[in-house]
Amino acid sequence: MDIKNIIIIGSGPAAWTAALYAARGELKPVVFTGVKSGGQRGGQLTTTFEVENFPGFPLGVTGPELIRLMEEQARKFNIEVYEEDVLEVDTTSYPYAVRGTSNNFFTKTVIIATGAYAKKMEIPGHTEFWGKGISACAVCDGALPFFRNQPLAVIGGGDSACEEASFLTKYASMVYMIVRKDHLRASKIMQERVKENPKIKIIFSHTIEKAMGGITLESILVKDVNSGETQKLAVRGLFYAIGHQPNSEIVKGKIELDATGYIKVKKGTTHTSLEGIFAAGDVSDKRYRQAITAAGMGCMSALDAEKWLSENSHKENILIEKS
Ligand code: NDP
Repeated sequence: MDIKNIIIIGSGPAAWTAALYAARGELKPVVFTGVKSGGQRGGQLTTTFEVENFPGFPLGVTGPELIRLMEEQARKFNIEVYEEDVLEVDTTSYPYAVRGTSNNFFTKTVIIATGAYAKKMEIPGHTEFWGKGISACAVCDGALPFFRNQPLAVIGGGDSACEEASFLTKYASMVYMIVRKDHLRASKIMQERVKENPKIKIIFSHTIEKAMGGITLESILVKDVNSGETQKLAVRGLFYAIGHQPNSEIVKGKIELDATGYIKVKKGTTHTSLEGIFAAGDVSDKRYRQAITAAGMGCMSALDAEKWLSENSHKENILIEKS
């Protein structure tokens, strides 16, 4: 079987930037884009409507367009792309083996850039109304006719929640933001935007207890965290915006993860706990989680891998040598 220099797993900003740098470094990288990790190929940017903070786009750019441009740029160079999920990264021998749904390769290095996905809430009614009023992606689902001119709710108080609530006001009659604390966690500019939007009503210090309805969602029960009082809100849509979970399952038990599943990297680098395996983007970053930082880490991971290859690739079995 072919032994590759670098296999990059992912298709978000970290992955395409790593591919661009590795290809320009003449390493002929292989990219497994994934089809289901994080919900969809292209990662979370594909579900972000307006990106106003990626330098070089003074007029803003949509998330899907930004990803499309990144991919197009990487593909101008010598890369091999497989549109499939990686099922296993076998780290028990070296070169490592990467098994996809249709293609398998040995590889000298791996860059994990599998991103993260939006968390869901296991409230009563979640399973019943998932896809029938409940969603974790306003940008994907908000424009559906079902939600038009209806009252909707977003749960969360971070940037995602503010962004989703603002986006939904284009279609909804009104949007409730259900926030468990007495303040928002979002950046100041996003806070201002939702506070100034007449279609958004922020309900602070409340959690959601359950989702109710018939065939589709009709209402939610929210609880005041201080008094314990509950109230029913008539809404046709409920959108979770409560943070993210890293897509690190394929390397769980093989490289070091932190308590919440993020891949640990050596400070200031993209080196993981295993030689020749690197991590970039949201799968290893719970602090910044931005498209631009993911792209930066993608660049770092390709440079780290390139340097590591030049120092180690002559060795027959790195795992044995290191142990
Ligand atoms: P955050 O972790 O920042 O916010 C999650 C929010 O959900 C918090 O308000 C949190 O409450 C709340 N929450 C979590 N769990 C629950 C629960 N079980 N019940 C009720 N509420 C809950 O995640 P985001 O996805 O908003 O943002 C992640 C990162 O991405 C951030 O760095 C953000 O800046 C960035 N981002 C930037 C955007 C932009 O610049 N355009 C857009 C979107 C995200 P609490 O505060 O109480 O913990």
